[in-house]
Amino acid sequence: MTKRLKPATLCVQGGWNPKRGESRVVPICQSTTFKYETSEQMARLFDLEDAGYFYTRLQNPTCDAVAAKIAALEGGVAGMLTSSGQAASFFAVLNLCSAGDHLVSSATIYGGTYNLFAVTMKKMGVEVTFVDQDASEGEIGRAFRPNTKALFGETISNPGVEVLDIEKFARIAHGHGVPLIVDNTFATPVNCRPFEWGADIVTHSTTKYMDGHATSVGGAIVDSGNFDWEAHADRFPGLTQPDPSYHGLTYTKAFGRNAYITKAVVQLMRDLGSSPAPMNAFLLNLGLETLHLRVQRHCQNALRVAEYLSGNDKVAWVSYPGLPGDRYHALARKYLPDGSCGVIAFGLRGGRDEAIRFMDSLKLAAIVTHVADARTSVLHPASHTHRQLSDEQLREAGVAPDLIRLSVGIEDVEDILDDIRQALGE
Ligand code: PLP
Repeated sequence: MTKRLKPATLCVQGGWNPKRGESRVVPICQSTTFKYETSEQMARLFDLEDAGYFYTRLQNPTCDAVAAKIAALEGGVAGMLTSSGQAASFFAVLNLCSAGDHLVSSATIYGGTYNLFAVTMKKMGVEVTFVDQDASEGEIGRAFRPNTKALFGETISNPGVEVLDIEKFARIAHGHGVPLIVDNTFATPVNCRPFEWGADIVTHSTTKYMDGHATSVGGAIVDSGNFDWEAHADRFPGLTQPDPSYHGLTYTKAFGRNAYITKAVVQLMRDLGSSPAPMNAFLLNLGLETLHLRVQRHCQNALRVAEYLSGNDKVAWVSYPGLPGDRYHALARKYLPDGSCGVIAFGLRGGRDEAIRFMDSLKLAAIVTHVADARTSVLHPASHTHRQLSDEQLREAGVAPDLIRLSVGIEDVEDILDDIRQALGE
C-alpha cells in the first residue's frame, strides 16, 4: 500500500495486504510469543540482525498492520502503536531526551500531556519551557537552549481548539536543529497531515476519533523519516551513537530513515512496556475503516452546533475554528480546509455555575471523561481533566474556568440541537 492512495482508501485498506488464502480482515494475533526452529534464529532477532516477531511487548503482527495503516495515512516512513496516547507522547519525547535535556512545548496542550511534561518528566530531569504558540518566532525562539531536543504542539488543542501554525513551528524547530513533534489527535490525518507542513514526528491518542467508538485506549507514533539526526549528531547521541544494550549498534547507521521508530520499539518498548493489546489494535482498525466518513459528519454537525451557539444570547463566547469569525479561522482554512474536528469550546453567561447546571440538564449528550467518539459528550475541563492545574496553568493552557468542552457526535444534528436547546431552557 503506498502513499499515493487517498486517505479514504487508506482508512479502509491501508496496512494489511493479504496474500493468497490469507484472512481478508486484519487477523487478531493473540499470542505473546512466536516460534523459531533454531537457537541461532532467535539470537539473530535479539541482535536486531534479522527482522521478525519474538515477543508481543516489542512487536505483534496485528498491532504492526494497524500501525502501518496510520503511518500510511500520515505519509510517514514508519509507525508504532502504544497502549495509550499518554504513552505515545511520553515515548515520542523520551526517545530524544534524557536527564539534563530540555523540551519546548506549546502551553495549549491536553492537560494530561501538560502534567506529563511539567511534573513527571521534570522529576526525571527533563525540563520543559511552555510557550504561547501564537507568539512571534523570535519570542518562541528565545525559549530554546543548547540542550533543547524537540518542539511540541497539538494541531488542534484540547480543550481550547486553538489551531497550531505548523509551518511556523517547523521553521522554529529546524532553525534550532531539533524536530517538531505534533499531536494530531483532534484533526486526524483525514483533515490534516502535519508532515506536509514540515512536522517531523506525529503522535496520536487513537482513543479518540481513530477508534471512534470509545472501546479502546491507545496511542500511535509516526515518523516522517525526514529529520536528519546525523546532521545534529551531538544533540541526539541516543540515535547516532552506539547503544550498549544492543552490542554497540547505532540506530541511524543500521536503520537509516527508520532509526527513530526502531529505537522507540526495540529500546523503549523493550524496557518500559506500554504495548497495546492485539485485540485493541483490531478494534482500532475497525474504527479506522470508517474514520473518513465519521470525521466528515463530526465536522458538519459541529459547525451547525457552533453556529447555533454563537447566535444564542445565553452563550458568552464560542471557540470553533470552522466559524468564520473565529480567531483561528484563517489558520484552519490553511491547515484544515476540509474541516477541523467535532469539538467546540464555549462559555455561558453565568459562568462556571451555569456551565455545571447546563451540563447536568443535558439528556442526549453525556458527561464523560472522553472526547471525539461517535456519541455527543460534554465535559467541564476545569472541574475534570484539568483539575490538577492551578488557575495560572489553566489560563496558560487556554482553559477558561467556564469553558465547556462539547464533543459533537455523529447523531442527527437536529436531536443534538434539541438537547442543547432544552438544557439552555429554551
Ligand atoms: N493527546 C490528546 C490531544 C488528548 O486529547 C489525549 C487524551 O485526551 C491524549 C493525548 C492522551 O491520550 P490517552 O487518553 O489515550 O492516553
